[in-house]
Amino acid sequence: MSVRRLPPGSTIGILGNGQLGRMTALAAARLGLRTHCFGPEKDSPAEQVCTRATIADYRDRKALAAFFKACDTVTYEFENIPVEGVAAVAKAGYAPLYPSAKVLATCQDRILEKSFLNRIGIATAPWTAVRTLRDLERGIAALGRPAVLKTARMGYDGKGQIRIGPRDDLAEAFAVLKGTEGILEGFVDFRSELSVVVARGNSGTACYVPVENRHKHHILDVTIAPAKLPAATRREAEEMALHIAGKLGLVGVLAVEMFRTRKGELLVNELAPRPHNSGHWTIDACPASQFDQLARAVAGLPLGDPSRHSDATMKNLIGDDVDAVPAILADRRAILHLYGKAEARPGRKMGHVTYLKKKSR
Ligand code: AMP
Repeated sequence: MSVRRLPPGSTIGILGNGQLGRMTALAAARLGLRTHCFGPEKDSPAEQVCTRATIADYRDRKALAAFFKACDTVTYEFENIPVEGVAAVAKAGYAPLYPSAKVLATCQDRILEKSFLNRIGIATAPWTAVRTLRDLERGIAALGRPAVLKTARMGYDGKGQIRIGPRDDLAEAFAVLKGTEGILEGFVDFRSELSVVVARGNSGTACYVPVENRHKHHILDVTIAPAKLPAATRREAEEMALHIAGKLGLVGVLAVEMFRTRKGELLVNELAPRPHNSGHWTIDACPASQFDQLARAVAGLPLGDPSRHSDATMKNLIGDDVDAVPAILADRRAILHLYGKAEARPGRKMGHVTYLKKKSR
């Protein structure tokens, strides 16, 4: 792999302008790099801290081309961007796109993603593609109930998915797909949900310790770093993430979400080829955070140290959780990160808090 090494003062383009872009821009600035974000919203979390911003629709090819021309390298903080336009503009060669358009295409479609994972020997929940009601009926006959039906694309935080229980009507469940392709998955009776964040660049790979993720209303609530796991399971989770990153030919950062079943098996649920909410703890607990690694990887610089100096618990501030900010600020143990969002709508990620503890094992 040979990513061009960018001198200080170079510009990293970031497709997407949310909090992940904001935290990437802050990390890039520490390395003397500039950032330019691209996205549809004005006064976004990323725009507030990036050197430059383009406010345009992701499908606007002219704006995309001008953006690529203004950047030395381009990455993304959001995988639900229409890949066709970005892939076409990336091909024109104004600036490289990392991770590649192929990685983006694989990770934004659950059918391509799970096909890829199974092809490289990674276990997932049993699944089948659903295009018609008949596919769903056949799928349920094969996988049993309960099962989970998800839209193949554009789903996040539990949106575009439905659990099919013993008495649920299949035609009604099918409607969740709204005419788009779907995937039916066997229900995993998991013991815990884990994720592993891995970075890959010119100098090799850097893997963070597996963490445990607890969700509330389908949205990540708390991440516990490290997850309490037998050493062999921890190694297996790390090896799986490194294997996936290698097979993808990743340049950048990848989060691998997994289920740990009651039998101790690890099944991969989802890939995100970008920094991930479950990796925010790395800002405060590791010499190099997931955002530092992304900036380093796409700028052709050696990766930093992913080992943790402390254990950590990360708590998301969602919607009116931000009302607790005065109390959080008054707590000297709390490390507060706010994303600069003016309006606290329900389900909206407004910030997070990290609490550090003495490192275990
Ligand atoms: P996803 O959008 O795939 O990340 O799913 C959101 C959440 O739904 C996951 O974090 C799990 O808690 C739950 N979930 C998703 N797929 C399954 C499955 N096949 N079996 C059991 N729970 C699931």
